Amino acid sequence: GRRPVLISACLLGRPVRFDGRGAARPHPLIDDLHAEGRLIPLCPEMAGGLPTPRPPAELDSRRRVIDATGADVTAAFSAGARIAVETALAHGVRLALLKARSPSCGVGRIHDGSFSGRLIQGDGLTAEALATAGIEVFADDDLDNAARRLAEIDRLNG
Ligand code: SF4
Repeated sequence: GRRPVLISACLLGRPVRFDGRGAARPHPLIDDLHAEGRLIPLCPEMAGGLPTPRPPAELDSRRRVIDATGADVTAAFSAGARIAVETALAHGVRLALLKARSPSCGVGRIHDGSFSGRLIQGDGLTAEALATAGIEVFADDDLDNAARRLAEIDRLNG
């Protein structure tokens, strides 16, 4: 059958972000998957034990996660990434829809660690861990490509 899809919980509007808000992303792919009951929402940072709201955090050049107060929160972010992989594998997930530019969920581009808004190439810790586990990751600014790829995966799975 068709596989469930992991999604960053904030993209469904859940108030799990650092600032206590959601980041709802209206898109036909998300609407359809939601209506079909195929979405598995997860916030890796909350799963890793962090509260909401929390200070914003960015990855530094050594792949440590440092929050705006200077605290090293790498352990919680790494725990959340592990939980995301375990959840995905337990449900047979092949593809994940992730919030762009997050130090956890970002795909391809993330903030550069200077809290200045600058972006660099790279993945967040959860996106990286999912990809390493063989799960295809798409950011929410690439949902048209995600929809095409998911249609292919669904066809192959009959
Ligand atoms: Fe959204 Fe991911 Fe940040 Fe959680 S960790 S708020 S799911 S971007």
